[in-house]
Amino acid sequence: MSVDLEFIKIKNYIHGQWVEESGVDHLPLFDPSTGRRIGEVPLSKPETSRAAIESAYAGYENWRRLSLAKRVGYLFEIRRAMQEDLEELAFAIAVDQAKHIAEARGEVQRVIEIVETACGLPTLIQGETLEHIANNIVGRVVRQPLGVFAGVAPFNFPALVFGWFIPFAIGVGNTFIFKPSPQSPYFMQKMGDIFSRIGLPPGVINIINGDHVPTLAWYEDPRVSGVCMVGSTPTAKKIAAAAGGAGKRTMLLGGAKNYLVAMEDLQWDVFIENYLHSCYGSAGQRCLAGSIVAAVPEIYEELIERIVAASGRIKIGSALDPEVHMGPVISAEALARIEKAIATGVEEDRAELVLDGRRPDLPPEIRNGYYVGPTIFTGVTPDMGLARNEIFGPVVSVMKIEDLDHALRLIRAQEFGNGACLFTQNLFYAEKFISEANVGMVGINVGVPAPHPYLPFGGIKNSLIGTNKVQGKDGLDFFTQNKIATVRFAPPAAGRHAAEGGEKVAAPKTGDVRSCVAT
Ligand code: NAD
Repeated sequence: MSVDLEFIKIKNYIHGQWVEESGVDHLPLFDPSTGRRIGEVPLSKPETSRAAIESAYAGYENWRRLSLAKRVGYLFEIRRAMQEDLEELAFAIAVDQAKHIAEARGEVQRVIEIVETACGLPTLIQGETLEHIANNIVGRVVRQPLGVFAGVAPFNFPALVFGWFIPFAIGVGNTFIFKPSPQSPYFMQKMGDIFSRIGLPPGVINIINGDHVPTLAWYEDPRVSGVCMVGSTPTAKKIAAAAGGAGKRTMLLGGAKNYLVAMEDLQWDVFIENYLHSCYGSAGQRCLAGSIVAAVPEIYEELIERIVAASGRIKIGSALDPEVHMGPVISAEALARIEKAIATGVEEDRAELVLDGRRPDLPPEIRNGYYVGPTIFTGVTPDMGLARNEIFGPVVSVMKIEDLDHALRLIRAQEFGNGACLFTQNLFYAEKFISEANVGMVGINVGVPAPHPYLPFGGIKNSLIGTNKVQGKDGLDFFTQNKIATVRFAPPAAGRHAAEGGEKVAAPKTGDVRSCVAT
């Protein structure tokens, strides 16, 4: 299935205007479902990045002074417009990122839910007051915005990462500069149209496109308070060094390698459904995708038989075809990398390739797309590259484990710590796994343990560089700073109050408080 699209010329959205970047190189934009070139992405200049900072900084003072109710009003408008445009937004994701159209709708829907959560900010960002620290002394904690934030998104969640960063950041009064992945920038073009349509004030959100170059201006500019990124661990570490060195706040989510652990008492229907969703949803290009299936000896052989049969039924094809289950991977380079990982698994790891998804049989109109089908290795051991490296494609490694403790030891020894899931009906196993699995997000009888928008999302170890997670209270904390006020309200001058008929208030005695600050 292919669609007729006008050639997509990606533009920057600076101070509320679409700006075509001139005199720069462009990257080609492809439709991974067909391999066709469908547009181009400007490699924006540092000057444009500086203009975005200028705009975001200029916009900040007015934006933060707008009443909370008005700022949240804009979030309501964004939510309404996204709901109206849901099909168009999902289509944009299915075109350049090639997420299957049903999953693309799910991604947009999830972002709508995040915006809805951010609409509750008036309740969420309330501060604290401590009355009567001493006579006539009150302490108060208020949450305030910091200024300008900037962030980069990975190719695989062009909408979700917008949701993780922007609604909370701007809702509390910051402004934001967003750089989409140059491989999937189309969704944010549609969002820019929404920002214009709802009349979002200039500078509140700027969109800049390109590779890493536009981000360089962020580190050296004191007007940028914080930098966030979701992407691979090496990129996260580079940004941590540059932004951390410049004293900026950072929120950096990195790569992953996730276990699905299958115990002897699992419910097969629950496991198979979740296994398919986890390992082959988004063609395995998800930070919470199942990558290793670890099974106890009692069910090891049966599990292999069942997953090979179920995976073999997955229909591959264009991301826009509602009849298929799985679309392509993002690029010709990604396809080559995944095929190489499969070849290495056979030649170097010497694991057994029981389902080979390479070069699937496809209709002529999509034969130039970047397809690889479900692929399964068995007999995988923890020392193999298959078990250690993030492949980021629909490749599953099956391991035999002795018991739950063995699985927990393997998870603990892993470089990454994003997610891990356990399939069991045993409460003891479940609670032990939740307590001891050394990862940020745990699932019990769930294949993709993605927390809902009200809760924090993020891993540990090399899956999270630093400490800040997105969403929930953690996300809110990142985009706000606490200010603590100590207030002494002097009593009226002695006697005056009484003369006016009021009750005389005793002046505070120094002896009421002990610390030097409050006396
Ligand atoms: P990537 O690291 O190649 O790129 C991510 C973004 O960073 C892109 O916008 C890219 O242009 C930009 N970038 C690259 N180098 C940069 C640099 N030196 N300075 C500043 N920006 C730079 O990642 P990707 O291939 O787009 O995405 C896939 C990766 O993202 C996988 O590793 C996946 O696990 C990870 N991911 C993690 C999560 C999570 O929640 N932990 C979620 C989604 C994706």
